[in-house]
Amino acid sequence: MTDDSWSISDLPPSWTRVARDALFVAGVIFCAALFGILTRPVGFLAAFWPANAVLLGIMIRSPRLASFSGWTGAFAGYVAADLVTGGSFGLTLWMTCANMAEAAVGYLLFRRISVDHQRLRWPQSFMLLFAVCCSAAAAGAFIGAGAASLAFGRDFAIGLEYWFGTELANAIVVLPVILTAPRPRDIPWPRRIFATVEGTRDVMPVAALAVSILLGNVIEGPGSFAFPVPALLWCAVSYSLFTTAVLTLIFSMWGMVIVTGSFATLPAHIDLLTWGKSIRLALALIALAPLTVASVTTTRNELLKRLQDSVDHDALTRALTRSTFIERSERLLETDAAGLGYAAVLMLDVDRFKSVNDRHGHAGGDAALVAFAGSVTEALRKEDLFGRLGGEEFAVFFPDTMREVAAAIAENIRRTVEERLVDVGNGNCIPITVSGGLAFQTDTARPSLDALLAQADTALYRAKADGRNRIVVFTTACLAKVGTGEGTST
Ligand code: GH3
Ligand code: MG
Ligand code: MG
Repeated sequence: MTDDSWSISDLPPSWTRVARDALFVAGVIFCAALFGILTRPVGFLAAFWPANAVLLGIMIRSPRLASFSGWTGAFAGYVAADLVTGGSFGLTLWMTCANMAEAAVGYLLFRRISVDHQRLRWPQSFMLLFAVCCSAAAAGAFIGAGAASLAFGRDFAIGLEYWFGTELANAIVVLPVILTAPRPRDIPWPRRIFATVEGTRDVMPVAALAVSILLGNVIEGPGSFAFPVPALLWCAVSYSLFTTAVLTLIFSMWGMVIVTGSFATLPAHIDLLTWGKSIRLALALIALAPLTVASVTTTRNELLKRLQDSVDHDALTRALTRSTFIERSERLLETDAAGLGYAAVLMLDVDRFKSVNDRHGHAGGDAALVAFAGSVTEALRKEDLFGRLGGEEFAVFFPDTMREVAAAIAENIRRTVEERLVDVGNGNCIPITVSGGLAFQTDTARPSLDALLAQADTALYRAKADGRNRIVVFTTACLAKVGTGEGTST
């Protein structure tokens, strides 16, 4: 699979690029940290702290940023966000070290796994993600818990547990969004954002998610944050992994808001730290379910697409296989989209192909077939179907096409094939020619596809008999010659 790292430019490092990278990371981390600080409940560590996961995510997606300038920019971003919101300098430095240690441990571990796993392309990737997030959160927690006990007078063990739980939750919900995000130029916004994996647009799963989130707000009780899970699973089997990751992040953030909002109504004997930490962790672990399902669905659909492609296309020439050509042509013939009742079938057979094989070997013959198929495809319109019926015999189906147009395209194919030399290897370039038989469906005469193919075959037989390198049209009255190697036509 391809690497889709975000690369801003492939130029060698220059001081402007170094400065730009540092500023970019500093800006992103400043905003993410500010978000965490401004949304934290008074007296607590931040409820939702995306900065560390964002830092880890952008370093993985754009390894160029994981340089001295990138890490320096991150450090500056953390410190600036804390200082502008009134943090004390010593504590800020300590917390920043904890945050950076977390991202650094995550980065070092992520670098050891394959790019496919980094992009969460396999269902097992989520177990690796989970392990990496646990390790990174533990590293941050050890350093950060000391700071938390100093700042808020909390017990070190409680701080450790709290930091670990919240950071694990943040990483599990934020990282998948960044790791699976399309490259900026491929962002499917806004029309295809809710495109299903089959390519059609379906807003029902996301509507169900919105309704279940609303229900979760209305119906009271500690279990209400699990209401959206069925809708999330529906989204997971419908949308791309990225869209599912975004929806899962929204679900988790909503859940955290619900949890924080319910603190005020909790009985006094409940320890808010324990309660908050536990539910936040539960939300993150629940998030693993739709993410894994989306990954399984994506992998399965990609495999099915590849399988379908090899069923539909001939491996050598990429023309449609016989069965797919016939199936699609029959469908077009039945549909008759333009309602005109016109269609045409062209049978093509490479002339004296056996001698190409005899003189240049089977590989040379294969190369000639590939070149021939390329010439035909080039001469066709995008609505025409091109199939390989077997050996060096091909067919074209022209939907909604008048006879003059089909005859002109057929003659164009013949001429293009004749004019192009084919490279058959070992420095040999040879000319090849093709014969064709053309049959039509008209608004009055509507033969079946089988009958059209049989008529085209009869016309092809006549083209061979008449000397090859020509297109012959089948008519009920006669077999009329429309093109020859000498350029004659009727
Ligand atoms: P004609 O002008 O009458 O069509 O003569 P021809 O030699 O092309 O006719 P024929 O149908 O007897 O020979 C077709 C040859 O195509 C025979 C077969 O070995 C060769 N062939 C069929 N499929 C392939 C293929 O995939 N690769 C190669 N290299 N040769 C193939
Ligand atoms: Mg032939
Ligand atoms: Mg043949």
